[in-house]
Amino acid sequence: MDFELSEENRIFREAIRNFATKEIAPLVDESEETGNFPTQLFRMMGEQGFLCPRYPLELGGGGGDKITDCIMVEELTRISAGICSGILVQSGLATQPIYKYGSEEQKKRFLVPAIRGEKIGAFGLTEPDSGSDAASIKTRAVKDGDGYILNGTKIFITNGPICDYVVAVAYTDPSKRGVGINLFIVEKGTPGFSVARKLHKVGNWAAETGELIFEDCRVPAENMIGEREGGGFEQIADTLISGRITYGARCTGTAQAAYELTMKYAAERIQFGQPIIKYQNTKFKLAEIATNIEIMRTFTYRIAWEYDQGRNVRKEAAMVKLFSAETLQKILSDTMQIHGGYGYMMEYPIQRFWRDGRLFTITEGTSEIQRLVIAKEIGC
Ligand SMILES: Cc1cc2nc3c(=O)[nH]c(=O)nc-3n(C[C@H](O)[C@H](O)[C@H](O)COP(=O)(O)OP(=O)(O)OC[C@H]3O[C@@H](n4cnc5c(N)ncnc54)[C@H](O)[C@@H]3O)c2cc1C
Repeated sequence: MDFELSEENRIFREAIRNFATKEIAPLVDESEETGNFPTQLFRMMGEQGFLCPRYPLELGGGGGDKITDCIMVEELTRISAGICSGILVQSGLATQPIYKYGSEEQKKRFLVPAIRGEKIGAFGLTEPDSGSDAASIKTRAVKDGDGYILNGTKIFITNGPICDYVVAVAYTDPSKRGVGINLFIVEKGTPGFSVARKLHKVGNWAAETGELIFEDCRVPAENMIGEREGGGFEQIADTLISGRITYGARCTGTAQAAYELTMKYAAERIQFGQPIIKYQNTKFKLAEIATNIEIMRTFTYRIAWEYDQGRNVRKEAAMVKLFSAETLQKILSDTMQIHGGYGYMMEYPIQRFWRDGRLFTITEGTSEIQRLVIAKEIGC
């Protein structure tokens, strides 16, 4: 057994950590205040192979693996979960279906520019009345000559307000519930495609999240991902497995940031004549947090490694997401508690991680949905 990161992975971790500290950290406050994503990051990261590090070099990626992807997400989330949201949609949900199932033409027109940061991608599955029950989506794609006419509404779409294209999920055959689904690449500027509104969120303010509308939106047939009608279900399932592993890294990065802030605060805050870190209650909480971060990180990277070996990790990916997101909630609550009243003030950074991390039991499959997936996989 070898739990060491490879030489390449270690070099990558150092490089992305330096980049995040020097180039991303100074952008966080303004981005959080304005709610505008610093879109220049897409090109900056794309040029250095940081944006989509696991795609092959010949496509403009970093030539890495799923572990590299997790390292990127962990390091970025340590600085800003909101900024990382926009980046990880680009490196995962908005590109993986094209990378794995797209035509050569789609790769040339959308994937390569997305990997280089020249085009911003989004992924639209969720609808106002269809979240966990994704098979109940109402968006329809009706064949019309050499194209499809899309009608429907997508909500909570990360990068939606700033995207150049969205990978939108629609029924081509609604009589086949859950199966008659396809993914379509819809470009900004296509008549009938619009951003209805940008949404205001509890956290992850730096990420732009929106509601998208397709109204008699005509999409050329060559923008459908995959060769046959009804192939979308498998594409979504595959994309979500990868995303759930990345989620472990997202939770680990958030937990690490909250832990570091709290170690520092607890060492500096004096009450009853000594730093609060001296009290057993604080020490025990921090010891438990440090332990849980190790478990989250080890579990995430082990399953990323298994994914890289081409193994079926449907169950394990759901376990990574469930365990990491739920454990993170306790960590965030404890780190906030150790900060006392100052932690509840907006001028202290712990509140940002506390708000941002609250999201993680909800998106890309709630904790309840992960439990359902795991229960099914273990034969319940
Ligand atoms: C900030 C943000 C960004 C997002 N980004 C994207 C994006 O880029 N693209 C995209 O497509 N979507 C995105 N989403 C949507 C996200 O994936 C959904 O919010 C999530 O899947 C849950 O769906 P829902 O919000 O409709 O909740 P619901 O499905 O309505 O669930 C509400 C509650 O009921 C529970 N529940 C539902 N069904 C069951 C069941 N069978 N058994 C037990 N409990 C159940 C849920 O676990 C949850 O606690 C985003 C959401 C947010 C908040």
